[in-house]
Amino acid sequence: MLRTSTVTTRARTARVVPASPFDLITKPSRSFSSSSTSNKQQLVILGSGWGGYELLRKVDRRRYDVTVVSPNSYFAFTPLLAGAAVGTVDYNSTLEPVRAFPDARYYQAWADKIDFANKRLTAMPATGSALRKRLNAETTDESSEALKPATSFPGFKPFELKYDKLVIAVGCYSATFGIPGVSAHAYFLKDVRDAAKIRQRILECFELACQPTVTDDERRNLLNFVIVGGGPTGVEFAGELHDFLTSDLTRAYPQVVDLCKISIYDVAPGILGSFDKSLQEYAEDKYVRRGIAIKGNRHVESVDEGVLHVKEEGAVKFGLAVWSTGLAANPLIDSISELDKDDKTHSLRINDSFNPSTKDGKVVSDVYCIGDASALENKLPPTAQVASQEAAWLARILNAEVKQRAPPGAFKFNNQGTMAYLGEWTAIVDRSKADGPQGELTGRAAWLLWRSAYLYKSMSLRNMVSLSYHWAMSAIAGRRLSRF
Ligand SMILES: Cc1cc2nc3c(=O)[nH]c(=O)nc-3n(C[C@H](O)[C@H](O)[C@H](O)COP(=O)(O)OP(=O)(O)OC[C@H]3O[C@@H](n4cnc5c(N)ncnc54)[C@H](O)[C@@H]3O)c2cc1C
Repeated sequence: MLRTSTVTTRARTARVVPASPFDLITKPSRSFSSSSTSNKQQLVILGSGWGGYELLRKVDRRRYDVTVVSPNSYFAFTPLLAGAAVGTVDYNSTLEPVRAFPDARYYQAWADKIDFANKRLTAMPATGSALRKRLNAETTDESSEALKPATSFPGFKPFELKYDKLVIAVGCYSATFGIPGVSAHAYFLKDVRDAAKIRQRILECFELACQPTVTDDERRNLLNFVIVGGGPTGVEFAGELHDFLTSDLTRAYPQVVDLCKISIYDVAPGILGSFDKSLQEYAEDKYVRRGIAIKGNRHVESVDEGVLHVKEEGAVKFGLAVWSTGLAANPLIDSISELDKDDKTHSLRINDSFNPSTKDGKVVSDVYCIGDASALENKLPPTAQVASQEAAWLARILNAEVKQRAPPGAFKFNNQGTMAYLGEWTAIVDRSKADGPQGELTGRAAWLLWRSAYLYKSMSLRNMVSLSYHWAMSAIAGRRLSRF
């Protein structure tokens, strides 16, 4: 009974969210709430990724008036995007809706500018054509289009929000290092939209290769799949793609599948540089035996439509190029000039309570930054593990403060190790630098651990069930091949 009435109250609260975002400025609290909200602090969270979404889940939403601003109306479970890109799992199994929290206000918008002195920010709606236009340019550091003044999109007016506390969890974009043609001709794998585009393109390459007018040389080029970047994302995608080729695509396109090739290009000599040496060798050995070419010490100089220009090889024709070479600062972080930043990553330098500082060393106590957009002094890697632990810790800080309890102290990262899926139901698990039991695991046992860990980490029962179902279905009945 108690549960039902709470839900009812929340639902009612959700229906009367202010019609205009400016209400937040003129009416700092929501007078429609079942309890008095006049004393509630406005907590604004920017971003709905690993940092923002985890904070939204864990912060005390009864005591804070929470507003989330993010162009994505969902949280995307990034470790499963490589699988989603080939159909091993359904896209929806990797997503959680931000609107699942009706006791928080949500604006589908980008935060474009923050006025720290007056505790307010400007946001731009990320809906309709504005969303499409800007998302085409988003997720890369070539997004000059995305940086145009927000008013350049007709019909979409920027709005302002006030905050008492601000959490910046906007993540990073994909780095292109200014290499010409990357954004226009390569595919990124940063979000579920990217995974969907990649899946469409793989199937399109196969359909094109089956057209009667196409020559064998053209077929070979169309079915040449290149991955630039030998980090965990690129390597996992290669493994998933290989699974797709050797099972479903072999059955569906027997006449052309032998012409397929997968190659991983990297400026480093090998792949998975962040893993222990023995695991790198294990992965390379597995891939070479499966016919996945590992092209280390290669420098991509530019990308044209269907052509990679590699310094050491010349022109390499391809059907699909997936670009995964690291991270570039989010334009919002770039736009912040008054706060101290890391020289290398350009992320906001933060203390162990996640507060940034001004350039002259003054801590900005009501602003927090977590996840990939932040840099702690001990330089933690930009991973989901770090972002979600930081978010959980920040929730403890904020909850303690609002309840006037002692703060939890300095954040300590609990390193649980790293994992990567290698295809054919094999994986690697590196706990050589982890807290707690250390060691390494490879093969089927590592794969079982990989799957169990991500099943366990699923944010909802619905996705836990959905993932199990899709993993089972793709093993039993194969992945879906329809293109629309
Ligand atoms: C394909 C892939 C696989 C990965 N696999 C793993 C893995 O196996 N293990 C692991 O630990 N890590 C993995 N990572 C890394 C991990 O996903 C990131 O480190 C993590 O997402 C960082 O969390 P974050 O909250 O800082 O940023 P994100 O999760 O990127 O979230 C950023 C959020 O901010 C929003 N946003 C962007 N700009 C604005 C703006 N101006 N205003 C408001 N909102 C904005 C975005 O829409 C998004 O919702 C993977 C990453 C990718 C891309």
